[in-house]
Amino acid sequence: MTSVVIVGSGFTGFECARRLARTLRRDPSVTITIVSPVDYMLYTPLLPDVAGGVVDARFVAIPLSTTLKGVRTVKGRVESVDFEGRQVRYRDPDDDVHTLSWDRLVLTPGSVTRLFDIPGLAVHARGLKSTAEALYLRDHFLGQLELANDDGDPVRQAARRTVVVVGASYSGTELALQLRALADAAAEQLGFAPEAARFVLLDVAKQVMPEVGERLGAAANRVLRSRGIDVRLGLTLKEVRADHVILSDDSRIDTHTVAWVTGVTGAPLVETLGLPMEKGRLKVGADLEVAGRPGVFAAGDAAAVPDLTRPGQITQPTAQHATRQGKTLAHNVAASLGYGVPKPYKHHDMGLVVDLGPHHAVANPLNVHLSGFPAKFVTRAYHLYAIPRAANRWAVGLAYLADALFDRAVVSIGLATNDEAGFAASEGIPLPGAD
Ligand SMILES: Cc1cc2nc3c(=O)[nH]c(=O)nc-3n(C[C@H](O)[C@H](O)[C@H](O)COP(=O)(O)OP(=O)(O)OC[C@H]3O[C@@H](n4cnc5c(N)ncnc54)[C@H](O)[C@@H]3O)c2cc1C
Repeated sequence: MTSVVIVGSGFTGFECARRLARTLRRDPSVTITIVSPVDYMLYTPLLPDVAGGVVDARFVAIPLSTTLKGVRTVKGRVESVDFEGRQVRYRDPDDDVHTLSWDRLVLTPGSVTRLFDIPGLAVHARGLKSTAEALYLRDHFLGQLELANDDGDPVRQAARRTVVVVGASYSGTELALQLRALADAAAEQLGFAPEAARFVLLDVAKQVMPEVGERLGAAANRVLRSRGIDVRLGLTLKEVRADHVILSDDSRIDTHTVAWVTGVTGAPLVETLGLPMEKGRLKVGADLEVAGRPGVFAAGDAAAVPDLTRPGQITQPTAQHATRQGKTLAHNVAASLGYGVPKPYKHHDMGLVVDLGPHHAVANPLNVHLSGFPAKFVTRAYHLYAIPRAANRWAVGLAYLADALFDRAVVSIGLATNDEAGFAASEGIPLPGAD
């Protein structure tokens, strides 16, 4: 028997497993196993919608069991790899340790939030990389709005109604605008003035969403300002406390809700493997194989994949590249088993779609710059097309419809606790004593 082990069930690992199972369906001598701490593939582009209460968390979680036919799924977090003995060691949710043997190893553990050594950051801020974080941000903020309504101390009341989002790239911008829409619904239903809810969006960069270019970045900036978001560029956090933050210009903002959405770095596992690295990611060739380690492949956010369309650069950590690299991985792993010939990864960037809350979006599909209604249409249609399971697509489509027809539900069900949404528990970032 030949064993293919895939580490991680994100965009890359999921697509690789799905394609490989199809290619090798008639070959009973090959087993494909995917190991991941979760039993789903997370459609991250809609996490801001989960935080904003538009879409349910289950709708963006694609179950591995029904979508990966012919693939064995194992729930656990890989802790180490023995390259000589060809084994991975993983820890299951019960804390028991197991090993799996491999003949081909596919490393796709993705990325985690990039943290900085800012006092209080890991304790009081929360990220937006997991369902726990998105649910926590929604529930926590709604809980603060409810508490503010009965708070007799005007300073604390204003702090409870204030959100600081750090990171004005597409995910931070989407988050700020989705929470703004949630606050508007809460204002109407709980009976306070919508402008009492205050949003500050910070970034060290000088531009909002540099990924979409200057023109669309400016369009997004206009939407942010029209929605009353206080955009402060060239700034970051210096200190985070339970009831306030200090910015890098020494100004203070009283707040109980801080979202840290400033960027990502390779998953902690990749640094421990002793393999060559570039910019915090595993160095691979254009064929996605790790140099000097035959049979070991890597791609997605965890890998520094050469961008053949922009010589000298590596591909951006996006879902678009991750999915396409998953396809190339499947092709090249199959080739290494005698099915076809390997090919290099080459993909031109097709652009981004960015949902800016009710009625607004910007998008640059195939470098055509769109804003307003056309962008909104393209953005939502793209997500409905890209979600890899019909039932999830239906659920998200109906959620969009419900959002258009009805008020957003202002309910904090408390599905993710503060600890569960911490960077250590929800993303697996080692933070001794911090969370
Ligand atoms: C809020 C948000 C919005 C985004 N929006 C967009 C967008 O609109 N468009 C776009 O192109 N991109 C977007 N992205 C980026 C996109 O999500 C990533 O580029 C993509 O998820 C990378 O895929 P991946 O498979 O490499 O990693 P991931 O999707 O991060 O998956 C990694 C997988 O590995 C698992 N894992 C981690 N460590 C281990 C381990 N030790 N053992 C086993 N399994 C492990 C994880 O649990 C996960 O299942 C967004 C990201 C975020 C956070």
